[in-house]
Amino acid sequence: MSAEIVSTGTELLLGHTLNTNAQYIAERLAALGVYCYYQTTVGDNADRIGQVIENALNRADIVITTGGLGPTMDDLTKEVVADLFGLPMEMHPDHLAKIEAFFQRRGRKMPENNKKQAMLPAGSQAIPNHLGTAPGVIVEQDDKVVILLPGPPFEMRPMFEETVIPYLAAKTKINPGVLHSRTLKVVGPGESVIENRLRDLLTVQSNPTIALLAKTAEVHVRLTARARTETEAAALMGELEAEIRQRLHPYVYGVDEESLASVVGALLNERNLKLAIAESCTGGYIAHQITNVPGSSDYFLLGVASYANSAKENVLAVDEETLRTYGAVSPETALAMARGVRRLAGSDIAAAVTGIAGPGGGTEEKPVGLVYAAFVAGDKEEVEKLQLFGDRVTIKEKTTYAVLNRLRV
Ligand code: ATP
Ligand code: MG
Repeated sequence: MSAEIVSTGTELLLGHTLNTNAQYIAERLAALGVYCYYQTTVGDNADRIGQVIENALNRADIVITTGGLGPTMDDLTKEVVADLFGLPMEMHPDHLAKIEAFFQRRGRKMPENNKKQAMLPAGSQAIPNHLGTAPGVIVEQDDKVVILLPGPPFEMRPMFEETVIPYLAAKTKINPGVLHSRTLKVVGPGESVIENRLRDLLTVQSNPTIALLAKTAEVHVRLTARARTETEAAALMGELEAEIRQRLHPYVYGVDEESLASVVGALLNERNLKLAIAESCTGGYIAHQITNVPGSSDYFLLGVASYANSAKENVLAVDEETLRTYGAVSPETALAMARGVRRLAGSDIAAAVTGIAGPGGGTEEKPVGLVYAAFVAGDKEEVEKLQLFGDRVTIKEKTTYAVLNRLRV
């Protein structure tokens, strides 16, 4: 069974939008064992969309498109596919009612052009969309299938999970439970260090397979096992995972959907500890990561983005003398910030960072990428010195990872 991905949208061709839909779908297809040999991106032009889908249908059993299901003039995909299959468009009153209700819930009247979203190619199956107005569509003819999904990723992904995966699993007769994938998340050592530690496993291992994926500040080790039964797959995976965890100890912080921030949150919850953060060079990025975790209000009390020296003094009570003597980027200031934010929040634990994110502002003594991270907990106080490399955003991200990683232990 093979599938192709067709991404529509002129904004993709112009580079205004990164094609994350194709990446997401490709990953899901691979996990299902559906082969994908081509991906195509095409603008909002009916002729070219038609050509691309037709070509894809000549090569693959299933074509999955994203984009162009909206109500506007440049939303064309459904009509193009109906044309290609020689199917008339039919109004679906039940979908129309859903779209009207969608607008009503928001206190608005449905614009006339949204009616178009309730039109589906005759005989097709609708894919419910709980987060937007456009239903997706599955069109089958002979042994070919076209699956149409909307462009916005937050609408497309749940539709794919809820309807498309079960559809594909049934069609390919693959039991999705038997192809197991598990991602171990590693923070600390770089990709090449990890590769060295796992080298023999990487070359010998064929089931499960191991793939390394380097992210900005962490590395993912992905295991994929094929097996006849769930138990067999779990056994294959379990043994290898234990071996990898041992070799990479203590750097595997979590698996799959877990993030460093969610792991830290779970630990704080478990120990009933409250946290506060003061940030200079990260400007709130650490607090952002922490509050991306649902339920973080249980343990996160306060985040201060004290960027100016005056804010460090006035809000966090960092001594003017400390700032003058050691400078804003110093272990002394980092520690004073951590103490200050803990006092302010009344938390058990506090962390603070101050550093030089660049590109300017570095000196020989204090180069770009120099960051001090301070931690206070109970009567323990410590300051970590980091020397990071990368552009401004990368340094903010790496600092955030270093702080969260320290809070993990
Ligand atoms: P809408 O009802 O919003 O018009 P649509 O199904 O017509 O939805 P598009 O108009 O093609 O979809 O895209 C809507 C938005 O979704 C785009 O502006 C873009 O932000 C996002 N988007 C579209 N395609 C992709 C993609 N392949 N990857 C990531 N984001 C995308
Ligand atoms: Mg659109």
